[in-house]
Amino acid sequence: MTVPTSPFPGRPIPPTTPETIEWWDATRSCRLLVQHCRECDLHQLYPRSLCRSCGSLELEFRDAAGTGIVYSHTTVEKSPDTTLFTPPYAVALVDLAEGPRLLTNVVGIEPTLIRCGDAVTVVWEPLPDGRQLPLFTPVS
Ligand SMILES: [Zn+2]
Repeated sequence: MTVPTSPFPGRPIPPTTPETIEWWDATRSCRLLVQHCRECDLHQLYPRSLCRSCGSLELEFRDAAGTGIVYSHTTVEKSPDTTLFTPPYAVALVDLAEGPRLLTNVVGIEPTLIRCGDAVTVVWEPLPDGRQLPLFTPVS
C-alpha cells in the first residue's frame, strides 16, 4: 500500500551507504528487510557492517513481516519548514515483529489518536529517485 497523501511533501532524500544500499534497493519493490545475524540470530536495523550484539560479519537480509507495535510516539505541531513537513504529523518508534525498533512516521490516523501498543502495518511513501520510505499505519 502506498501513502495516498503525504504530509511530507519536501522530505529530504535519505542518503545511502555501502551497508544500506541493498536495504534501500528492496524498498523499490516495497520490500521491508531486516538484517539478520547468522551467528547469534539477532535482527537489527539500521543495516550495519557487523552485528551489534556479537560483532559477527555473518550478516544477511531477510524479508520482514511489515507489522509492528507503536512503542512511543509524539505529535509534531510546528514544523521547522512547512514546505518540507506539514504539521500536525506523528513521529513514532515502532517495534517490528522481528525485533528491531524503527524511527518512522505513523500516517493515516489523526496523530493525537495514536496510542502506545497500537498494532501497525507498513505503507510506502514514494521517493523521487524510485526508492520507497517505509511508514506505518494502524491495523484496522
Ligand atoms: Zn550476532
